[in-house]
Order: sequence, then C-alpha cells, then structure tokens
Amino acid sequence: MPDGGHPYRSAPEKIRQNTKLQLPATGDVIAMNAPDGMIRVTDIPAIPVVFFGDIDGEIQDAILQSLQGFLASLDEQLLVIPRLQVEFMVDPGTPGGKNRSGDYYSALHSVQGNLVLGVTGNGLWDEFPHPRFVFGSAFCGTAILSLHRFIHDSASKGLALTRIGKEIPKILALACGIPACSDQACYLSYHWTMEDIDRNRYVCRDCRMALGEAIGECVGMGIQGS
Ligand SMILES: [Zn+2]
Repeated sequence: MPDGGHPYRSAPEKIRQNTKLQLPATGDVIAMNAPDGMIRVTDIPAIPVVFFGDIDGEIQDAILQSLQGFLASLDEQLLVIPRLQVEFMVDPGTPGGKNRSGDYYSALHSVQGNLVLGVTGNGLWDEFPHPRFVFGSAFCGTAILSLHRFIHDSASKGLALTRIGKEIPKILALACGIPACSDQACYLSYHWTMEDIDRNRYVCRDCRMALGEAIGECVGMGIQGS
C-alpha cells in the first residue's frame, strides 16, 4: 500500500484523542473508529517478559495473566494497555547457587525496551542489609523476579502462585524505580518475608497512580496531566 494511503497512519492521534485500546483476544488488527482508525497489534507498546531457563508452564501462564490483569487494571492511568512480549533465554545462574542479580541484568539489557522484566527459578542472593535470598531486584528499567523462595517457602503450588501474583506489581514498581510504600497492606510495601506478602491486600491509590504514570512514560503511552 502506498505510504500516503496507509490506513494505520492516523491511529496514534486517534488513540490520543478519545479511544482506549485493549489487547484483543485474537487476530492481529483491531478496528478503531472507522474510517481511518485502524492499528496493528504490533503498534501497541510492548513490555518484554523474559523467562530464564526451564520454568513450569503453569507458573509462566500465571505470571503472564497476573501481569496482563494488573496492567489492564491501570486503565485510568494508561491510554493504551501494553501487551506482553514473551522471550526465552538460557538461565545464566546456577540451580541451588547464590546467584547475583547482576548476572541477569546484562541479558535483560540486551532486550529492546525501556521496561524489561525477567523471571528465573534460581535463587538470587543479596548480602545487603543481611545475607538472604531475595524475591527480586531491579536496575535501570529492568527487574528480575526469582521464584526460588516462593516455591521453597510455600506449602502448596496454589499458595506459591497467589504469592507470586502479589509480587507482580512490586516487580513492576522496582523496575520503574518506585520506592516501597509505607502502607503494609499495599502490594508495593517492603517484602522481607513471605508474611509481608501475605499481608498485602491491594495496590493503594498513590502507588497505582505512580505505577500508571511510570509505566506510561516507559512505553510512551501515558495520559498527559494524570
Ligand atoms: Zn502503596
């Protein structure tokens, strides 16, 4: 199709003006307000999610559903709900080892995107402020979630999945550089122990606003003035 007649050209302006866009269940094109508003799914900003190594498929699905569900819940803060772009990489860590977050950052930084999330089944060890396995960590727009403690410290897979789901907004917040929340019931509060996660019941309004703004900036689809 000649450039001048490209049917997708006016879509971004259209979206900015008046339309919220959700990830479609199927297909690769979403119809917007006719006649000139069409946008390819590939035009929707993506957040890459990298699964390192061999991670249980049910856990992968749960993580992706939690992520997509939480992003969709930010519809008042985001003009477009980002899609998830799943990638797989060899895990640079060692099973049972005291792996360093830094081992994962170089791999995550090789992925294009201002906001990149990684997931490993291996333990991430941190000495500060005291030696322990951590739930995750972040550096400059990338974050790595470790499933190690969730799997080893949960009595059932169901409980582990519930706890991992609660950690998802926290990992997004870490990647965006949002500080820990002082509300102990908020998912973005500090997570030292599994009980800290079990106490979480919601994402508070302030954190929801902060996350929406930060994610919108990262993917270039925030609502101005929100
Ligand atoms: Zn909060």
